[in-house]
Amino acid sequence: MRTYQTQMEAAKKGIVTKEMAVVAEKESMEPEKLRELVASGQVAIPANIHHTALSPEGIGAGLKTKINVNLGISGDCKNYNVEMQKVDMALRFGAEAIMDLSNYGKTNTFRQELIAKSPAMIGTVPMYDAIGYLEKDLLEISAKDFLKVVEAHAKEGVDFMTIHAGINRRAVEGFRREGRTMNIVSRGGSLLFAWMEMTGNENPFYEYYDEVLEILREYDVTISLGDALRPGCLDDSTDAGQIGELVELGNLTRRAWEKDVQVMVEGPGHMAMNEIAANMTLQKRLCHNAPFYVLGPLVTDIAPGYDHITSAIGGAIAAASGADFLCYVTPAEHLRLPDLSDVKEGIIASKIAAHAADIAKGVPHARDLDNQMADARHRMDWDEMFRVAIDGEKARDYFESTPPADRHTCSMCGKMCAVRTTNLILEGKKVEFCSEK
Ligand code: SF4
Repeated sequence: MRTYQTQMEAAKKGIVTKEMAVVAEKESMEPEKLRELVASGQVAIPANIHHTALSPEGIGAGLKTKINVNLGISGDCKNYNVEMQKVDMALRFGAEAIMDLSNYGKTNTFRQELIAKSPAMIGTVPMYDAIGYLEKDLLEISAKDFLKVVEAHAKEGVDFMTIHAGINRRAVEGFRREGRTMNIVSRGGSLLFAWMEMTGNENPFYEYYDEVLEILREYDVTISLGDALRPGCLDDSTDAGQIGELVELGNLTRRAWEKDVQVMVEGPGHMAMNEIAANMTLQKRLCHNAPFYVLGPLVTDIAPGYDHITSAIGGAIAAASGADFLCYVTPAEHLRLPDLSDVKEGIIASKIAAHAADIAKGVPHARDLDNQMADARHRMDWDEMFRVAIDGEKARDYFESTPPADRHTCSMCGKMCAVRTTNLILEGKKVEFCSEK
């Protein structure tokens, strides 16, 4: 029988939960140290009490950088089978989180199936689902109606929810006063902005924040405080709107922790490389070291079709500078709903960014696979190289598509392979290119 409601409450009471024990084992961390980090809010373990298939993961200080895969249907593209194939791919490549961002029709059938099968944590943005779930147009939705959607997702077993509670009237005033090139690019943020402007009301998630927290606490849902005013282009980054909302998010973080609700804070967006590290410091400082979940950042605006790369560059810098959780971006970003191949490209790019950052951060054992790869390369053990590679299937396809005459080389340099030449000399053998057949 559980004597606590949330992981944070347990941690504050000195209890190491079974979820903490699993995470500590995965991270090679002492359970007691992890418990302290959960108690202080520096680590979140999103684990809804109804998500029985979950293999828990921790997000935050001292832990491996995690990645999230977004999927879900839209009005223009509503094939649930394809979305389920994306789920399988995300799980195959080891994504720790999947966000169901379906925004068309009744989304709960897909979500329930997803939660039932997924060991990865599941996130949603209830605002996306409000119109479909409530079967009302935006203007007809009451403030309390939005809370019903939060409760429905919580009951289904969603582990974390993006809730844009920081875009209150004060933040909107600041955004309107200063102006921006791209205005609001957050989907949930723009819907809330529209609702607030059309009704003249305060942001319902801000006005009824304590009630939202009660719902989240009951099911141990982690709140992911959304950044409605994240910059949507380099020109808008680190502006008054973004920073003003961040100050609100810091305040909301403390209020959630007072009720033992676990918190993550979301961040930019689009941002030049030279601003990323400072933003990570600012975010952690203003939000009291809560785990930081970044959406990119995309380091240039001019590469549609390649935004998995612009995002991986920004994500690697962000994570090396303190971000804990990367939301993947696919080559389809800004262009269309990603297909299966876009999803794969996005996952791999994001995994590379997270892994590279973990090496820089000195996460325990982060270099182990790199050392195994170097050893396999030195020995020219191709099977081992493909086993260690993030995408061994692609590596094997490339190698086998133009096979070398001598498998102690590859077709790039052939017999002039530097590795082979040096190995032969160090083994006391001669290197003779002309006489070799
Ligand atoms: S042939 Fe050239 S590219 Fe290929 S493994 Fe040897 S040194 Fe590397």
